[in-house]
Amino acid sequence: MRTRYTGGMLWDPEQAALIREDLWTQDGTVAWRGPQSADFPVDRVIDLKGLAVFPGFADVHVHLREPGFPYKETIATGSLACARGGYTVVCAMPNLNPVPDSPEHLAVEEDIIRRDAVIRVLPYGSITRGQKGEGELTDMAALAGRVCGFSDDGRGVKTAETMRAAMERCRAADSIISAHCEELSLIPPGAGIHDGQYAARHGLPGIPSESETAQIRRDIALARETGCRYHVCHVSAAASVAAIRAAKAERVDITCETAPHYLLLCDEDLPEDPLAPDSGRFKMNPPLRGRKDREALLEGLLDGTIDCIATDHAPHSAEEKSRGLTGSAMGIVGIETAFPLLYTHLVETGKVPLALLIDRLCVRPRARFRLGGGIGVGDRLEMTVFDLQADTVVDPADFVSKGKATPFAGWPLHAACRLTAVGENLAWNLL
Ligand SMILES: [Zn+2]
Repeated sequence: MRTRYTGGMLWDPEQAALIREDLWTQDGTVAWRGPQSADFPVDRVIDLKGLAVFPGFADVHVHLREPGFPYKETIATGSLACARGGYTVVCAMPNLNPVPDSPEHLAVEEDIIRRDAVIRVLPYGSITRGQKGEGELTDMAALAGRVCGFSDDGRGVKTAETMRAAMERCRAADSIISAHCEELSLIPPGAGIHDGQYAARHGLPGIPSESETAQIRRDIALARETGCRYHVCHVSAAASVAAIRAAKAERVDITCETAPHYLLLCDEDLPEDPLAPDSGRFKMNPPLRGRKDREALLEGLLDGTIDCIATDHAPHSAEEKSRGLTGSAMGIVGIETAFPLLYTHLVETGKVPLALLIDRLCVRPRARFRLGGGIGVGDRLEMTVFDLQADTVVDPADFVSKGKATPFAGWPLHAACRLTAVGENLAWNLL
């Protein structure tokens, strides 16, 4: 099977720009790209005139909820939502049932992925048995070849002793730990939002930034000691950015991610009534923090401290998100809106160069998690095509994902995905 993609503006990593080129694939692998329509017989021609062509986005932090919670999301709906967002490869967190903590349990998830995924979905294995954040570690050597890394996302690994042993085991297995950092002993009961001006004004218990930063500091020391490849999930606080910047300067093997909502929102954007049913769409863990934190995250993104933008796409049912800021489940969706939001509100506004955004969405996550794929000659094709002249708004009713809770409902978007291709498969196609 030979396909020619013609007429589009292709992302060129050397020039850090979109240039007019065609691209040919042979059996799903990029065989050639160039400005001329070379004499090359093809079975299929796909016209991308007027559209921008990027390497498929890579998200190292999504929740696809299957096996275990298909009422929230399934591999079928979640992976199609990923394709619609321009993603060709995503790393699925292990807070599932069964938890992928053994080869047998992992096989349950792998079977559903093989059957239903429309893009590449790579499972994480859990760090601890049952993903409890404590107790017995998983057999990482037995799992490492079948997972993208190890995480207990949703909870922090409770003790330094457990994390040290996990890092030693992970290093021996030549894998990576992706850590949700949260020191529960620093969080008052019932806290669901940031411990900042909004919580104080409403007399609500808050989640202090220190609960994140303290565990990051602990893990930095352990990563230095063990030499483990280590990645911090969803960084939300200014002090965390500073701690990671300092660790990188000391050559600790550390990377990190933040998410679009932490770059675009802060606790000044929370709805005035914390009990309003609709305010649940502003609730996630870690919470939206202060304006200074948001600014520090942007600075960290620009200076390279923050390596990846991940979505932490975390769908829940409408009912679970209907109980306001205080009672709703933690987590929002984000995979369908990440690039359009970042393009419209960070690139078009001049805050972030497009090349930097592509680096953090495509290049660095692929390199750090060894994901492969792209639009370079020799790559297994992973490509997404956007209309950058689109003019639309975020409409949750239109989401492919089963989850509809987003704080960005109604926000303008100037980018819309027209095509996402993985190998020969057109996983999303509005051409
Ligand atoms: Zn998490």
